[in-house]
Amino acid sequence: MDNLLISACLLGLSCRYDGESRDYDLKDVKEKFNLIPICPEIYGGLPTPRVPSEIRENGVFNREGLDVTAQYEKGAREALHLAKLFDVKYALLKAKSPSCGSGEIYDGSFSGTLTKGDGITARLLKENGIEVFTENNMVKLLKK
Ligand code: SF4
Repeated sequence: MDNLLISACLLGLSCRYDGESRDYDLKDVKEKFNLIPICPEIYGGLPTPRVPSEIRENGVFNREGLDVTAQYEKGAREALHLAKLFDVKYALLKAKSPSCGSGEIYDGSFSGTLTKGDGITARLLKENGIEVFTENNMVKLLKK
């Protein structure tokens, strides 16, 4: 069985910025992979709940204007450390997040507008050869 990095919030952990938890149907994923839960924003030293953040101009800023880029980058490095330790080829990460989002993220205006791009962790994992999926294209992951 291959190891899979997975966003902890997809497993119902209440590490989301708003401190809430949501359940997703991951039965098929659990049968096919060994799951390694990660939450890069927690690894980066941020609290839960926390002020939401978005990426703009190559940095990450929270809604109050605080630059939290360093925390996001630290969280990404920690996630990559685990990926290397467990020889991970695939990751299933939460869509649209400034850490975990893949392919599209919020545009930095805090208006709910999406733009093309990756979260900080998703980008670093991809740069290191790890294929990243989200809950929206899990079907492709299950074909691996
Ligand atoms: Fe943590 Fe990623 Fe989920 Fe955000 S999307 S709560 S960083 S696991």
